Parts: sequence; C-alpha cells; structure tokens
Amino acid sequence: MLNIVLFGPPGAGKGTQSEKIIEKYHLTHISTGDLFRKHLSEGTELGKLAKKYMDEGELVPDEVVIRMVDLKIKEKKDTSGFIFDGFPRTVNQAKALDGLLENRRQPISGMILLEVDEEELKKRILLRAETSGRSDDQDMEKINNRIRVYKEETLPVAGYYQKQGKLYGIKGVGSIEEIFQAICKAIDGLRV
Ligand code: AMP
Repeated sequence: MLNIVLFGPPGAGKGTQSEKIIEKYHLTHISTGDLFRKHLSEGTELGKLAKKYMDEGELVPDEVVIRMVDLKIKEKKDTSGFIFDGFPRTVNQAKALDGLLENRRQPISGMILLEVDEEELKKRILLRAETSGRSDDQDMEKINNRIRVYKEETLPVAGYYQKQGKLYGIKGVGSIEEIFQAICKAIDGLRV
C-alpha cells in the first residue's frame, strides 16, 4: 500500500505529475480541486458553496473538504493506494487525513513537495489560463492571493510531515520527464 501526498504551490505541476504517477503506480487519484470543479460544473450545493472561496483564491473550510475526502476514501475499498493532490492544505486537514487512514491502517507513506520559485509559478499559471478555462487562473490578483494563502496556511503542512520524516523535496523545474524521474526515485525509496 502506497499513500502519497503530492504537495506544492499552485502551478507547481501537481496535476501533470499526478497523471504520470497514477499510470505508473496504479494509485487512486484524489484531487480536491478537481472534485470541487466537478461539483461546480454539476451545480451541486457543495459546488455552489465552494465557488465563493475558489473565486477568491481562498481555502474552502476544512470540515467541508474533509467530509468530501472521507466519502471518496470510503468509496475505494480495493485500491493499492491513494495519491492526494491539493490536499491536505492545512495542518487541520493533515491531522484529519491521518485519522481517516488510521481506520484503514494505511498511513501516509510520504509527501512529495514540488519546489518552484514564485516568478515561474506565475508564468505557468498565466500560460495555463489560456486553456484551463479556470477563472482563478485568469486574474493576477487571484493568483497572488492563492500564492499568499499557500505560504501562510498550506506550507506549515510540509513541517507536519517533515517532523514525521516523511517529506521529500523535489526540484519542480526542468522537463516533465526529468521531474517525473526524480519523483519516481523518491517513491521507489518509500517502497523498499
Ligand atoms: P487547486 O485545483 O488544487 O488549485 O484548487 C483550486 C481551489 O479549490 C483552491 O484555490 C481552493 O479554493 C479550493 N481547494 C482545493 N483543494 C482544497 C483544500 N484541500 N482545502 C481547501 N480548499 C481547497
């Protein structure tokens, strides 16, 4: 069983790399951002609630996110492991995730942190905006706010896993393949 948290600021390449990781390691993908966007496009109550926060680049309240992840985890009884993408984003969420996984006796194996400097992040998000259709990618003010929220509220989650000896920092700059190889090396180290 392999449970990975893929971590990093907005625009670090989590979505791109998680697709490759899933293909290679056959993990179940739980991306809270994707789940909220799906609810939004389907017009559910949860989607409507999340929209207010997403539009501003603010975090959706912990209890809402945790409940959604809990349901997703419970849906997957027979998986060989999960990759959590964009979650946990607060220390509270990280503690709750530990609790959810403890029920299954399948703790987090490691956190992969993609490190990319701020100028590069902004360039990537603006480029992604041309095709993503995401309103939170279009506006510099919203992008800046997402990066601020990441530094203030999300970065402490890296410390939470570091204390447990589970943090693996990877340089998130270079070709997609080079970054992927560095990630695989870290993941393969978790499995021995
Ligand atoms: P993402 O696709 O991961 O960049 O997420 C897009 C937006 O969804 C974020 O800016 C938040 O508003 C919301 N969101 C996604 N994941 C979380 C989470 N774990 N906690 C709180 N808000 C989240």
